[in-house]
Amino acid sequence: MPNVAFLGLGAIGTPMAQHLAAPGGDYGLAVWNRSAAKAAAFTANHKGKKGGKVWHAATPSDAARGADVVITCLPTSREVAALLDGPDGLLAGMATGSVLVDCTSGDPATSKEIAARLSPLGIGFLDAPVSGGVAGAEAGTLTIMVGGDTALFQRVLPVLDTFGEKIMHVGPVGAGHAVKAVNQAMLAVHIWSLGEGLVALARAGVSPAIALDVINASSGRSNSSMNLFPARVLTRAFPRTFKLALLDKDLGIAAQMLRDQKVPSPIIQLAAELFSAAHRELGEEADHVETVKVIERQAGAEIK
Ligand code: NDP
Repeated sequence: MPNVAFLGLGAIGTPMAQHLAAPGGDYGLAVWNRSAAKAAAFTANHKGKKGGKVWHAATPSDAARGADVVITCLPTSREVAALLDGPDGLLAGMATGSVLVDCTSGDPATSKEIAARLSPLGIGFLDAPVSGGVAGAEAGTLTIMVGGDTALFQRVLPVLDTFGEKIMHVGPVGAGHAVKAVNQAMLAVHIWSLGEGLVALARAGVSPAIALDVINASSGRSNSSMNLFPARVLTRAFPRTFKLALLDKDLGIAAQMLRDQKVPSPIIQLAAELFSAAHRELGEEADHVETVKVIERQAGAEIK
């Protein structure tokens, strides 16, 4: 049975790791989380399954020791890089021939630096950010975009397959993060533009629910109009599944990537500014869709 280590039991990491821990799966699983209580609770939930092959480690190095594949899912690449060093760090546990698969929505430059550090040690690196939200992670239907060596990608594919559905190799190290950043920029632009449009329609006396119905049968539809706004904005439920702080971080990566590539990008640069301002206004715990509340406050009308 190949061994997998999973580090980062956050909102999306937990359901991803749950698929690896599922009875009947092919892997021994070590989990590690900064707040140890979450890792202990995870293991307790899987007690007795897989003959004790699901366990929680006290340190990143303990989790990585004996693992063929180490998966990280942390807020940014900065936290991933910070986990590498020291007596408790990943590099103290990872063996030659093992692979670090970073499912964080990270940044291409840091991933290239990490890959360059691991390569002389004979440790592989793939950036493999995911899309599909907590619901997609729970259903095991995430989209995974992978950057790095093709043979390495083929090797870890069965592991990624436990929580992914569409799993694509998109280019060299960093390419997964670059594609993810552009996807996130599209998400942000859709949320903001749909928010503006629906507030204006509400002020003009059109029911936002009817307007969404029409848009969703028309050319302007998006995941935001088809899923996010009906379930989260019209209902005023605004569940907290993906932090605005993380989308703000993603937009910073996208805006930087576009500047690096010298592509004129007024819309994505402005989206990055708008989401940073919304993040400052709504705080660390707000969900990304709550950005709509900023548009509503500025306009003095609600989408409901
Ligand atoms: P959460 O904020 O829910 O969880 C963050 C995780 O990282 C927690 O396990 C947290 O530990 C850990 N962590 C935070 N800081 C550190 C640190 N300094 N050192 C070690 N561990 C740390 O985030 P998500 O799970 O939502 O997101 C994780 C990644 O996945 C992000 O890059 C995000 O952009 C991406 N993503 C998220 C999606 C979503 O729907 N939530 C969708 C697609 C991608 P602790 O429990 O101790 O706080």
